[in-house]
Amino acid sequence: MLTADIRNRWLQFFGDRGHTVVPSASLVSDDPSLLFVVAGMVPFIPYLSGLVPAPYPRATSVQKVIRTNDIEEVGKTPRHGTFFQMNGNFSFGDYFKEQAISYAWELLTTSEADGGLGFDPEDLWVTVYKDDDEAIALWKKIAGLPDERIQRLDKDTNYWHTGQPGPAGPCSEIFFDRGPAYGIDGGPATDDDRYVEIWNLVFMQYQIENVRSKVDFDIVRELPHKNIDTGMGLERVAFLKQGVDNMYEIDQVRPVLDRASELSGRRYGADHEDDIRMRIIADHVRSALMLMSDGVTPSNEGRGYILRRLMRRTIRSMRLLGVEGATFPELFAASRDAMKAAYPEVETDYDRISRLAFAEEETFLRTLSAGTSILDEAVAATKSAQEPQLKGDTAFLLHDTFGFPIDLTLEIAEEAGLSVDRSAFDSLMAEQRSRAKADAKSRKVALADLSVYSAFRAAGETVFTGYDYLDTDSTILG
Ligand code: ATP
Ligand code: MG
Ligand code: MG
Ligand code: MG
Repeated sequence: MLTADIRNRWLQFFGDRGHTVVPSASLVSDDPSLLFVVAGMVPFIPYLSGLVPAPYPRATSVQKVIRTNDIEEVGKTPRHGTFFQMNGNFSFGDYFKEQAISYAWELLTTSEADGGLGFDPEDLWVTVYKDDDEAIALWKKIAGLPDERIQRLDKDTNYWHTGQPGPAGPCSEIFFDRGPAYGIDGGPATDDDRYVEIWNLVFMQYQIENVRSKVDFDIVRELPHKNIDTGMGLERVAFLKQGVDNMYEIDQVRPVLDRASELSGRRYGADHEDDIRMRIIADHVRSALMLMSDGVTPSNEGRGYILRRLMRRTIRSMRLLGVEGATFPELFAASRDAMKAAYPEVETDYDRISRLAFAEEETFLRTLSAGTSILDEAVAATKSAQEPQLKGDTAFLLHDTFGFPIDLTLEIAEEAGLSVDRSAFDSLMAEQRSRAKADAKSRKVALADLSVYSAFRAAGETVFTGYDYLDTDSTILG
């Protein structure tokens, strides 16, 4: 089943069942507190929160999503992309728990010939919030699941709220068991790559107040209008249905991975570290393409900085595969061709997108060639002196003189088994900042330069440790 086919089945299924089909919103969220749309429900927040009456009682979508907080997982787990598509079905005070579970089970287990996704019921497990006896009873009644395949988990994983007073409720997640070749037989609670979470059902049923932490808050009443919010990872279902090992090998992503392999002459599957790099490249190129197609341009702050970081990480990964020259013309074309059926704008807008991407690559390759040799020497010197840490002033020099980003220095050092004296680096940065402030006029360049790194730190705080399907302390509904 091609990814497009799964998407169509989804929309058909929920469309046939009275859901208004709503096109994906842009990746760039309307909400200024959120850099990107991180879940299918984001465009529906006004209706879910009750602030605005919903124009339809039920809706479905396949929403483009960016999750930068998963960036470190990319390529290492089988299931985390920075860009992915979240299929969702939503009820605004219309149907609730029983119907949501019943729809999910029906779509997953109806045969492919009859328009479903054709999963074997024996391969499916669910988790529920530990006190949600209602959900447990429904899973038994609707799906006939035995007790051992319904795992009760706590609020940290199976309770949704925004961190603010407002709507909240238990979740139930559906997992696919890939079998004993991938890990032990302990169910999703074992939290390894054997059990792949495919679908999260959120039952928004309570008003909560006094939120003290993710797991500590007061439930004050039942909501008069209970809502359903679900999210299924399209790429996750695609990789399971396509019989490949991970989401980077599906039809929409694999062509980029193959291109990276051809360009580098390294065979995918031959070396673990190289494989991770190829998967990172495949993921990041697609994310960058989709971000640019939604109007994001590379820059030193906010959304543009995230885009820049994805592109730089791609370039860096290609270098680690032994390719020194420009590769974006090949990689982006491969991603465009894999994505254009679902998103024709990546083709019609390709001139603009590719100009931005290629210029970014050229600039960064120049920065890299200047900085890398210095860094390589410093790494070699540090290792031969048997020191564990790269000096802060080296990192600072690289940043200050060569525009070499600190995150890259950290990454390269780490690859060489070294850390970086971050506190020395930070104090040099602080010194420079106060010098720059004292003499702002004559040091315009330094100031502009510094802003890069404060933006990076800000982005790091708001993005990289950020939302987990809005279930951390985001203020999104607040
Ligand atoms: P995981 O625990 O695997 O990180 P999650 O609990 O963070 O997933 P949710 O926030 O519940 O995910 O999002 C709903 C669905 O979106 C998930 O069930 C999964 O299928 C999909 N999904 C979440 N994060 C990613 C990602 N980074 N890449 C691809 N699909 C994802
Ligand atoms: Mg999860
Ligand atoms: Mg989840
Ligand atoms: Mg997650």
